[in-house]
Amino acid sequence: MDATEDKVYDGYVLEARILEWSYLMEGMATIIEDKNGDVERLAVYNWSSLKEDFRKKFDEAIKTFRPNSIISIINPYMRMAKDMRSLIRVQSPEYIRLDYTSEDKKCFICGKEAKILPCSACLMARYCSKECQKFDWINFNHKEVCKHLKKFSNLVQK
Ligand SMILES: [Zn+2]
Ligand SMILES: [Zn+2]
Repeated sequence: MDATEDKVYDGYVLEARILEWSYLMEGMATIIEDKNGDVERLAVYNWSSLKEDFRKKFDEAIKTFRPNSIISIINPYMRMAKDMRSLIRVQSPEYIRLDYTSEDKKCFICGKEAKILPCSACLMARYCSKECQKFDWINFNHKEVCKHLKKFSNLVQK
């Protein structure tokens, strides 16, 4: 894909790995990396327009919108945003497929199998070991991230 061109890639499926925790606004935004190692911002719109039953399913699904999850984006729309950085725009969550097999089970820091209980405050960050958990607090400021994740998990657990 060419990040300098505004274009809808019709019939194309972009597979990518999520790098950051998502931010929920009227849509949802996060950072992804595709197979070529290209890093892009991703924004998914029209969240609230979903039908009730699909919405419920999707609220469930966005728990897997976490770092290291693999997603497939159908008909990705490459867009130049106002700040001149490219953005992959997804018109509706229906165009996103989540790989449920990669779900939840990975350490947020190293990607190994998560074995210990998730962070007791946010219930979202999972780790393979106390060492990785400590690393997250010290190096990635989990204290602040945790507050945000708590809001996020409250939202998805409603
Ligand atoms: Zn780990
Ligand atoms: Zn936490």
